[in-house]
Amino acid sequence: MAKYSVRFKCDECGQVHTMGHDVFLENGPASKSTIGDIFSAGVIDPEVAKIIRNKSMCITSGNLTSQQDIQQIFLIPMDD
Ligand SMILES: [Zn+2]
Repeated sequence: MAKYSVRFKCDECGQVHTMGHDVFLENGPASKSTIGDIFSAGVIDPEVAKIIRNKSMCITSGNLTSQQDIQQIFLIPMDD
């Protein structure tokens, strides 16, 4: 299992922020990838799906925002 940070391209400010949750995946990507690329078959890992449904804070504007475009949401491998 590898640990991934879930991050998204923010529509509010255009930067990439963390969604504040990490996920563990069995056959995850070796490098930064989008959710759309990783789960191209259309079935998104339930843990990931749960995280990306939540609103996230834009640390630049302070507003709650959400990103529904799975090509704008990334999984980034974390080294422990
Ligand atoms: Zn932002």
